[in-house]
Amino acid sequence: MRVELLCTGDELVTGLTTDTNSPYLEARLFELGVKVRRVVLVGDVREDITLALREAAARSDMVIVSGGLGPTADDFTAECAATAAGVPLVEDAGTLQFLRERVAKRGRELTPNVARMALVPEGSEVVPNPVGAAPLFILRLGGCRLFFLPGVPREYRALVDGEVLPRVRAELEKRPGRTYRAFRLLRTVGIPESVLDARVAPLAAAHSRVVFGFRTHAPENQLKLMAEAPSQSEADAALAAAEAAARRELGLAVYGSDADTYPEVLGRLLTEARATLALAESCTGGLIAAQLTGVSGASNFLLGGAVVYTEQRKRAWAGVPAELLERHGAVSRPVAVAMAEGIRAACKTTYGLSVTGFAGPTGGTPEDPVGTVYCALAAEGAPTRCERFSIPGDRDLVRLFAASNALELLRERLLTVSAP
Ligand code: AMP
Ligand code: MG
Repeated sequence: MRVELLCTGDELVTGLTTDTNSPYLEARLFELGVKVRRVVLVGDVREDITLALREAAARSDMVIVSGGLGPTADDFTAECAATAAGVPLVEDAGTLQFLRERVAKRGRELTPNVARMALVPEGSEVVPNPVGAAPLFILRLGGCRLFFLPGVPREYRALVDGEVLPRVRAELEKRPGRTYRAFRLLRTVGIPESVLDARVAPLAAAHSRVVFGFRTHAPENQLKLMAEAPSQSEADAALAAAEAAARRELGLAVYGSDADTYPEVLGRLLTEARATLALAESCTGGLIAAQLTGVSGASNFLLGGAVVYTEQRKRAWAGVPAELLERHGAVSRPVAVAMAEGIRAACKTTYGLSVTGFAGPTGGTPEDPVGTVYCALAAEGAPTRCERFSIPGDRDLVRLFAASNALELLRERLLTVSAP
């Protein structure tokens, strides 16, 4: 099925608003096995919208149009649709009544500009908007069905989910030879993209129905699996087999899948282990605390964290002996260990996690240049583990990976030790 998307609005072609409606619908359609052929953005110019509608309709079986259905002077998509179809605009009685009741509820009169939203091209199917004012209307132009939706993302999505996709599904069911798809996103940390690719690439030959895709979203690398088959059950089975093979190959590097987030997954592990955590952060400046507290329920495990940026604070809040700082410097293995142990003792937690490093662009020493980060994990009844990392990249990246590497010490520990 040939599907195109058309979005109208000056804001979309002047850098004020990014089109987020299209990616939303593209993803939903792709899950149904439909790859959108083309996405067109047009400013609020009558002739341009009318021409774009005619052209898209001539190329497609379905066009989904967004925007220009509101009450303001720059909303004239319905007018353009009528021109493109060569029909007049007519007042939809049901919509007019709906709009009248809607404004009455807010204690207002129906003004002419609001009433304009009841005007649709003659012959349209009109579907009420469950979360807004302007309705969806559906119009035929030759062999093409055009859907007209409001641009407001909340309304667009509600109408896509409730009205457009069920109609697309019904249309697809009528067509023979359709492709069914199944997806899985595996989220990894701690392995570079090139290594991920090298380890997974050999699996592709044994899973011919599955496309292996890669995406980097620092500090994560993601493996996207897409199975295609003539039936949903075959697509699901092919995906399950490829996913199992990829998980066997990647082991603990896979921290989660699909909509999982790292802090959520780690939070679950800590909660299940009934473990508590305290943080002593230097170069990450509270980044780890911010990530963990970004998820509701963090109070189940995170007792607190200290940003110990100066040597004085490392001594006062994380209990680092002055003598260690003097002898080894703040960015060193002994100091990272003392920070983790000190904060754990101060907060009486199962775990104490610390980070100290040179985020750059200035600082560093010949032995420990910019990008050097020490992370340590102190645990109840176990020796403190400390790792040194050399992280390439700018200040933001060093801090991001420093936080990620520190948290990985904890995740590894939680996955390998059942009882803390
Ligand atoms: P409209 O339906 O054209 O009156 O659009 C209403 C508002 O929705 C605009 O002012 C934008 O802020 C937003 N909007 C319209 N089209 C899009 C789009 N394609 N993606 C994201 N936001 C949009
Ligand atoms: Mg607009």
